[in-house]
Amino acid sequence: MLTRSLRLPRALFQYRSNPIATHALSPQLIKARTMHIQHIKMRWGTGDNYAYILTDTATKDSWIIDPAEPQEVIPVVQDLVDAGKIKLTAIVNTHHHYDHAGGNKGLLQEFPKLPVIAGRDSPLVSLTPQHGQVLQLGAHIKVTALHTPCHTQDSISYFCEDTSTQPAQRAVFTGDTLFIAGCGRFFEGTASEMTKALVDTLGGLPDDTLIYPGHEYTKSNVRFVKTVMDPAKYDAVKMLDDYTNSHEITTGVFSMGQEKTYNPFMLVREPAIQQLVKAESAHEAMASLREKKNKMIVMIPEVLPHNHMVPKEVEKTIPAPAKRRINISPLSTL
Ligand SMILES: [Zn+2]
Repeated sequence: MLTRSLRLPRALFQYRSNPIATHALSPQLIKARTMHIQHIKMRWGTGDNYAYILTDTATKDSWIIDPAEPQEVIPVVQDLVDAGKIKLTAIVNTHHHYDHAGGNKGLLQEFPKLPVIAGRDSPLVSLTPQHGQVLQLGAHIKVTALHTPCHTQDSISYFCEDTSTQPAQRAVFTGDTLFIAGCGRFFEGTASEMTKALVDTLGGLPDDTLIYPGHEYTKSNVRFVKTVMDPAKYDAVKMLDDYTNSHEITTGVFSMGQEKTYNPFMLVREPAIQQLVKAESAHEAMASLREKKNKMIVMIPEVLPHNHMVPKEVEKTIPAPAKRRINISPLSTL
């Protein structure tokens, strides 16, 4: 029953009439879930970054993932610790960029002695997991570290499975490697590396894995996707466009199976997508798509504040489209 409600059509370019996988779950199934994920908005209106609190409910053991802005993250974490809802056991980074790993020192000052699980280039890192290495969080959450080098060479995605549910609840924290309907820039890698990271490593995860990226970039990503995949021909693109027009938050909403219906970067092995960008191989298509997207970001000024590499000094000169505030949402079931 759960499998059926979460499993997505295998055929490309189709989508479920209800795009939100979790809406199909019965209250009993939701109650049975024990992996909780809470997002914390950071640098909202400029970087639109996410930090995440990942919790094993049985033990309350929790990771704080990418807590780049201590002043925005610590009050949320402290409230949950004080209320006895979580026990922080590690700081985790998806990669070394300051808007993901820049808060490690501040967090450690507040919560000393925590291990820092991250790639080799993160500040104060104490454990860099191998590709495929499994880490345990609390009683039920099995986390597999997946090396996904390209955006940075130390990029790690964390694939999480709650082993107490059947089938397991699944989630993946992708940092700046995979965004909903997009991918990160190739700052330290090649198109070929991104193809491997997206299509083979992340694309190889089960279809019902929900995606938790490092930024809320979906709306601007869809704007680009529409220039490549005509929404009149690709129903999934239209679905995502409609969704982003009425929802600000897309993290944890869409699955890996859905990603393969509207994200052209995930589809570079498909001849139809290669044709659309006049490429003859997956790597060529990946390079071409990224180049087109980079040009579009330069051409559309309102997309500029969403460039996560804009330093804070420069950010101050850019009018924020939305008032910056911290979102404190209750622990939500995945
Ligand atoms: Zn980054």
